[in-house]
Amino acid sequence: MTQPAAMSSLAFHGAAGTVTGSCYELRHGDAAILIDCGLFQGPRELEKLNFSGFAFDPTRLAGVILTHAHLDHSGLLPRLAAQGYNGPIWCTPATAELLQFLLPDAARLNEQDAQRRNRRADRADDPPIEPLYTSADAETLLAQLRPVEFGTNFILCPGVEARLWNAGHVLGSASVEIHIADMRLLFSGDLGPHDNSLIGPAESPSGMDFVVAEATYGDRDRPDVTVEARRASLMLEVKEALHRGGNLLIPAFALERTQELLLDLASLLRDGSIKDARIFIDAPLATKITGVFARHAHELEVDAAAEMLRHPAFHFVEDVQQSRALASMSGAIIIAGSGMCEGGRMRHHLLNNLPDKNSTLLFVGYQAAGTLGRTILEGARRVRISGETVAVRLRVREIASYSAHADKSELVAWCEARLPILGSLFLTHGEDHALASLKQALDAPDRSILIPEIGEHYALSPHSPARRTHTGDPGIRQVVNRDWQNDYADFEVNLRKKLAAIENEQRRREAIARMRRVLDDFRDARQS
Ligand SMILES: [Zn+2]
Repeated sequence: MTQPAAMSSLAFHGAAGTVTGSCYELRHGDAAILIDCGLFQGPRELEKLNFSGFAFDPTRLAGVILTHAHLDHSGLLPRLAAQGYNGPIWCTPATAELLQFLLPDAARLNEQDAQRRNRRADRADDPPIEPLYTSADAETLLAQLRPVEFGTNFILCPGVEARLWNAGHVLGSASVEIHIADMRLLFSGDLGPHDNSLIGPAESPSGMDFVVAEATYGDRDRPDVTVEARRASLMLEVKEALHRGGNLLIPAFALERTQELLLDLASLLRDGSIKDARIFIDAPLATKITGVFARHAHELEVDAAAEMLRHPAFHFVEDVQQSRALASMSGAIIIAGSGMCEGGRMRHHLLNNLPDKNSTLLFVGYQAAGTLGRTILEGARRVRISGETVAVRLRVREIASYSAHADKSELVAWCEARLPILGSLFLTHGEDHALASLKQALDAPDRSILIPEIGEHYALSPHSPARRTHTGDPGIRQVVNRDWQNDYADFEVNLRKKLAAIENEQRRREAIARMRRVLDDFRDARQS
């Protein structure tokens, strides 16, 4: 009697209908492997999902592959190790090196968060909150990383082989090709734009049975801005800011955006477009990550990147005392975290500079709704920082052309270059509108394009479309995919309370008038 063929399946535990919590589980018979194990990031209810148990048994995984170092792909790995996974985690050498700094930093923030919440007086009788994971968990996990170069085949378990391809997103980022039984699968990971100034464009094979592609910007095309044009706008911003005599503050993410900025600034200094600039990198994590970039300079698309990242005009600020000493400076360029002004040393630079009309705050990254960065960008005249009310008098500027993500036409081009896809194309890692818009752009009668929901399982067989075998949990789906009506309900519940908290009647009316204006602006804005 012949053995029945082993069943293969794919389950979506995160980044389905949302952009965070990337985690896909591929099974073949008894063997299960994981692609990414990322944090859910965003509203509190979504972040609570990080604390719920894994939907699979971590002790039974045969292997884990990590696409790149961003926490929404890697940030739950220490928890996976803490819950019993002690096998290898395959990733590129650069990703492994970046994680040496990113995961301990994430663990430290988790520990501080738990401590802070346990200190609150109103929690006096509640049991203590445990951190999501500890520094010790992060250290354990780091020992499990198994670096592997792009293009090198590696065996996860008998019958399952894989290799990594450049995804062009951030240093070390990979797409993952997997051969399992008679099938070939490809997971895009996050894909970069064609004109990424730091790393080469994404490349991957075609002729797969199944492709899982990200759709973060599936509904948006960026105007074409060359690296030269972006540097020219940076030059103008720097010149204008320094001409006014105040400081230029630039909030930046530690991974990639800081290094892109440094290379742009070094290039402007080198060709004499800006002169006599004193540039302070006041972000310990960004400084360590810049060191990783310098060590991997040979992988970057920039000539002499290692020297440029150590330009003599750059001062890497070490301790908090040096950081505080920057308060007495003027005419300095200060790059600090966090990228959305939510924490880090940027907070005290804002306290010092927001009231100074000669200073400038330049945004070079996405500011999510509800963050301090977004509030300032949208024109708030006063903000609260560390319990203090601060007037915003400095100039607020933005350069929107920095991006580490492929836009809609680049995603379409990447997916079409993968054709023929013999089974199905799954679209993930996007909000509903982005997923639907990308699907529409790719649709053709002979193509199976699926938008999986969180918690869904699909049966896979060679050369034929995937078949859904298990539906997702509607409760989780609701948390992951809050629509505007949920947001509105929250807003409405708190509106009266928030207005009542404004003591002065005149100010309350001003707040209402301003909310009206915001709504009118949105109504009048042309849809693009
Ligand atoms: Zn990413």
